[in-house]
Formats: sequence, structure tokens, C-alpha cells
Amino acid sequence: MKKSDRDQNITTIVSRGWCSGCGTCAAICPQKALTIEYTADGRYIPRLIQGKCNHCALCMSVCPAANDNFDQLNRFVFGGIPEDKLLGHYTKCYTGYCADSSLRWKATSGGLITALLLYLLRSGRIDGALVTRINKDDPLKAEPFIARSEDEILASIGSKYVPIPLNRLLDQILSEQGRFAVVGLPCHLHGIRHAEMKNKKLRDKIHYHFGLVCSRTMSIHGTEFILHKMGVSRDEVAELKYRGDGWPSGMIVTLKSGERKYLPMLGTWWSEIFGGYYFSNYYCTLCTDLFAEMSDISFADAYLPDIIKTDKNGTSIAITRTTVGDRLLKTAVIDKAIEISDLSPGAALRSQKAMLLFKKRNISARAAYLTIFGKLVPKNIRLNQNKFLRPTLLDYFAAPTVYVNIFISKNRVLKRFLKYIPFTFLVLYRKAFKLLLAPHIKSQRRDES
Ligand SMILES: Cc1cc2nc3c(=O)[nH]c(=O)nc-3n(C[C@H](O)[C@H](O)[C@H](O)COP(=O)(O)OP(=O)(O)OC[C@H]3O[C@@H](n4cnc5c(N)ncnc54)[C@H](O)[C@@H]3O)c2cc1C
Repeated sequence: MKKSDRDQNITTIVSRGWCSGCGTCAAICPQKALTIEYTADGRYIPRLIQGKCNHCALCMSVCPAANDNFDQLNRFVFGGIPEDKLLGHYTKCYTGYCADSSLRWKATSGGLITALLLYLLRSGRIDGALVTRINKDDPLKAEPFIARSEDEILASIGSKYVPIPLNRLLDQILSEQGRFAVVGLPCHLHGIRHAEMKNKKLRDKIHYHFGLVCSRTMSIHGTEFILHKMGVSRDEVAELKYRGDGWPSGMIVTLKSGERKYLPMLGTWWSEIFGGYYFSNYYCTLCTDLFAEMSDISFADAYLPDIIKTDKNGTSIAITRTTVGDRLLKTAVIDKAIEISDLSPGAALRSQKAMLLFKKRNISARAAYLTIFGKLVPKNIRLNQNKFLRPTLLDYFAAPTVYVNIFISKNRVLKRFLKYIPFTFLVLYRKAFKLLLAPHIKSQRRDES
């Protein structure tokens, strides 16, 4: 590590707005000089305890934004650079769901993750899993925890579309006995892999890495906004489920009065606010990993035309990347924990077309804008443009939109204006954005010809 890096600590990353709030720095700091705090803008950031930092810069070396060298991570995890710059290293792609139909119904998109965690625990391959749950006292917040029993794994079911400082608990994995699985977003997995690179004990303890395909997270204010559109105030909420109870489903809110409210995810304020990057973390606009490329297995919603038309119970796409991941899926099928079918890598890509282009092509256009406006851009994006697709002219028109939307949702006056904007206008605005990202990935893939 260069001397200039040593002089810096994680607060540099926070002040640049690059922090994803993953929590890795706080868990790994040998001086315990960092705490993870909830901010007024509805996310988590590390804070330095004055006088405790010894400038070892370990926090910087595990931070996904400070140390975003994808090549280095790929060599560490897979032994080389991936041939496929859109999907990353992969072994095979599948669609699938868990064999237990009631679990499949409750999960976000088929329950493969929860079924596999239960399978690993029951078969004695792991002693615990680093997962997430909705906070009991404040159902708008979600928190990480280590699940060690079947009931605890069941309590972690479901996607929470809010920031969670998952990796804050890596120090618990280090201090406790056993073998573990981790489930996280791409930013979490980057932090975990960096930490494993630095710490062999951690590497030996984490046996399975499950990644959620992730376009972005939205601050807790985003959830509040959607609730407002459902006619619900934050104080009334007793329980909240972002999705689940069928597929693709929607937000299910139980009020303290006992009343239940439901808002479908697709074609409502839910999808427009989340999909339009309102209330998003700025870091998510700089993240170039959609498919959770550092996992043993990545999981996504099976947004494929045939499945969307026919399936009401939930189906996931699973992309295996390591022998560990592929072997696990196959044994889980043999032992009847899950059901899977082969899927072509091209179809896996198509299922996430718009977001893929946003992460892997539009990024260069966004980086150009940020540079013009005097913002710093992470090294990986600046120096490795050949790792991405070449942006089109339309990408340059689309690029500023997300920053405008983030700005609107952070500004007190404009946020109020957003509340009264007609829904149809919002839909058309996002459609225009998607049109600008017009997909052209077909010609770039071997398996699509
Ligand atoms: C913020 C976010 C963005 C996503 N974006 C996309 C997308 O663009 N396209 C797409 O196809 N799929 C996306 N997904 C993934 C999708 O929603 C499903 O989670 C995934 O298909 C797995 O479904 P499942 O039924 O197997 O999971 P389940 O069996 O329901 O289990 C979910 C698991 O994910 C963990 N988890 C939930 N939320 C978080 C979180 N915020 N951080 C860390 N771990 C978490 C839980 O602890 C649990 O272990 C996203 C998920 C999240 C949380």
C-alpha cells in the first residue's frame, strides 16, 4: 500500500460519497476505531472514534470502493480474469426454486437461497449463516445477524431493498466457532472477499458465498415514500415485507391496528421509485457489479417472458461460479431440497438487460459526467474502460438522469414535489430512460448467435 493511502482512512471514502455502508471496515479494524452509524439520510456509514486510529489503512484495503480492483479480486477468487465481461466467471446458469412449496411461496423469488441454507445446516455442512432480518422495533430498518438454527434461517427469508451493514458481523464470524455461509449484495461480497484476502482465518471459516443480483439499494426514506403512497405513515407500521407471498408480488404491510395493506411491486410507485433510482445510494451508481460476480452462486429473479407469463409461485435464476457452488446445487437437487433446470447464459443476461447495460455500459458515460463536474471516480472505472461496453451517444443522454433523481429525492422541497407528481408522468419518464439504454448486447455473445 502506498504511503498516500496510509495517510487516508475510511472517512475519505465517506466524504467522497463512495461508501456503500457494507460494514467491512468496522469489522476488520484491529483498533476497533470504527463504528457503523445510521445517518439522517437513511443509510449506514462508518464513523471514526477520535484517537483510536493507528493509520494501518486496513479499512481502505477491504473497502469495496477504495479498493475496487476487480482483476485482483477475480484472480484471488477464481485464479484469473473472466472471459465474459458481462456475467463474470461462471460455471453454469439455471432456473429453479425450492422443493418446499410453502417456503417457495413465502420467499422473494422461489426461495432457492433459504432452501440451500436450510439444506447446508441440516446436512451439517455449515454451523451458521450471515443473513439479514427486519428489525423488530423499527420494521423499516433491516439488520444483519448470524442464523444458527432452522428457525433463524427461516426468519431471514426475503429481500430487503434497503442498506444493511451486513459485514459489520464479520468479526463475530472470526470470534465464533464453526463453518459459515454468507448471503450478500455485490458490495457485501466485495468487502468479504477483500477481508478474506487479508485474513486467512476468515477465508477458512466462510465456506459458501451466496450473492444477490443487485441493481441498487434505496435508503429507508424510499420505503417511507412508498408507504406514504400506500396511505401509511411510518409510525403505523407493525410489520413490513418488501416482497413475498407469491411472485413477483409486492409490499405487504401490517399496521399496528391489524389492518393489512398490499402494493404490487410491478407497475406501481414501488417499481417506479426503486427502478428510477430515487432515494438510491450514490455508491450504487458507481458499482459495476450487477451479477454478484464474487459469489459461489448468484441469485436473481427469473425475469424471463415464459416464466413471467405462467409462474405465480416464484422462480430464481442461479449462476454457479465455483466448483463449490455447482456441486452444492447438484447435491441439493439429488437430496430433493431444490429443483433446477438448465438456462443459457444468454437468457440469464437477457433477464436483466436494462440493468446490465446500466452497470456495464452506461457507467462510462456517467463517469465522464462526474469528471466534468469535478467529482472523483473510482479507479476501476477510470482505468479499466475496456472492461465495460462502449457507451452509445444515447448513453450520454441517459447518464445524468439518475443523479437528477437522487438529487430530487434528497432535496426537501423537490421531494415534496415528487409526492404530487402524477404517476403516469413518472412512468413515461422512466420509460424514456430505458429507451435510451436500448439494448444491444446480442451481437457481443457467443451463445446468442
Ligand atoms: C437490494 C436488492 C436489489 C436486488 N436487485 C435485483 C435485480 O436488480 N434483479 C434481480 O433479478 N434480482 C434482484 N434482487 C434479488 C432478488 O430480489 C431475490 O433476492 C433473489 O432472486 C433471491 O431470491 P430467493 O427467493 O432465493 O431469496 P430468499 O430465499 O427470499 O432469501 C433472501 C436472502 O437474501 C438475504 N438478503 C435480503 N435482503 C438483503 C440485503 N439487502 N442485503 C443482504 N442480504 C439480503 C436474506 O438474508 C436471505 O438470506 C435484489 C435483491 C436486493 C436485496
